[in-house]
Amino acid sequence: MTLREIIAKKRDGGRLTDGEIGFFIQGYTKSEITDYQASALLMAICIRGMDANETRALTQAMRNSGKVLDLSAIPGAKIDKHSTGGVGDKTSLLLAPIVAACGITVPMMAGRALAHTGGTVDKLQSIPGFDASPDPRRIVSLLAQNGAILMGQTRDLAPADRRLYALRDATETVISIPLITASILSKKLAEDIDGLVLDVKTGSGAVMPTPNLSMQLARSIASTCRKLKTKIVVLLTDMDQPLGCAVGNALEVRECVDFLNGTSPTDLQALTLALASHMILMAGKARTIRAAERMAFETVESGAARQRFLDIVKAQGGDIRSIENPDLLPKARNITALKATRTGIVNRADARLIGDACNALGAGRVKMDDTIDPAVGVVLRKKVGDRVTRGEPLCDIHWNDEQRLRSAMPLLKEAFKIGDRAVRRRPLILDVLR
Ligand code: URA
Repeated sequence: MTLREIIAKKRDGGRLTDGEIGFFIQGYTKSEITDYQASALLMAICIRGMDANETRALTQAMRNSGKVLDLSAIPGAKIDKHSTGGVGDKTSLLLAPIVAACGITVPMMAGRALAHTGGTVDKLQSIPGFDASPDPRRIVSLLAQNGAILMGQTRDLAPADRRLYALRDATETVISIPLITASILSKKLAEDIDGLVLDVKTGSGAVMPTPNLSMQLARSIASTCRKLKTKIVVLLTDMDQPLGCAVGNALEVRECVDFLNGTSPTDLQALTLALASHMILMAGKARTIRAAERMAFETVESGAARQRFLDIVKAQGGDIRSIENPDLLPKARNITALKATRTGIVNRADARLIGDACNALGAGRVKMDDTIDPAVGVVLRKKVGDRVTRGEPLCDIHWNDEQRLRSAMPLLKEAFKIGDRAVRRRPLILDVLR
């Protein structure tokens, strides 16, 4: 077997066998296959697609390209949540303590910011001292201690994905449903979880811009997960406007602290509780989704989730004084309001443009090795459907560098649209695939 034969087969629309897919992934992980040959195969897959069996085989081969965690020493269900990426989506920081406080183990391995989307790891790293890459030998003990860990992907988990993702990014082959499916699931299934709650975003700020493409991705991930005997629930959710009000690393941590103290924007609360309740139901800790949602809500009301968040942050080296008093989190030197130029109703607060503006301020990355300013970002004062009077602030811009502010401003001005009438809003949760 040679990779040229495999490339030619896929180029001509053939179905690859488990052996051929395994040959490619093993060879590429060991650097026996060159980037240019791998790129040709990725492009052939991107154009020709893969059927459900090929996608399953690719996911398995990528998961097995590195270490697979063994969490068998920890009793009970291990459930994780994953989101396909969005703007202002800080639910991972909230779900870990809420769900762990319900007695479920949550090995939350998260990603970093890329393009216009934020990354949980960068948000966590705005907490002074927080170690998002603990020694892999501590994973089991941290999980046993607090029921949850919040960390980045370790280097030895699904290493094929790390290399392939960089190649896909450079060759415009990210946008392929089987490749996204295998990329997400290879990492998640290497965590030794019993179940996964997946939040597939749709809208301007999502990887998949249309509900149709997002639904195809949701179905592909759900069917692959089932083939690999892992429980899955997929929520299809809106990402046309940012989730919550804060976008930017420390600003989002602050919004999470407010949430755990009992104050939250309604959309952030609704989605967090919905995701938490599916995790709780999947773990068998509640009999109905309503009972699960009540359980999640009670951990916030009672302060148990807040205490659990403090425990997790402390165990991972973070300074809990910055959670007890969020004024100690990194703060930008300047805050400038973007004011409404007319009176009316907010028709648009475009997630993609707001994400791009936050990147321009320094909150995210264009390239993987760009440095992040943890303090900068945007706090929305108005969201879609809100009334606004001319001169009222639409958002507050937290900035440190005037040049960067000048780049962000036109994006933010374009992001907001004010009309005379309210537009029909999509529901926050468009569908649930069980
Ligand atoms: N997130 C991933 O982890 N992989 C993809 O391919 C796309 C989004």
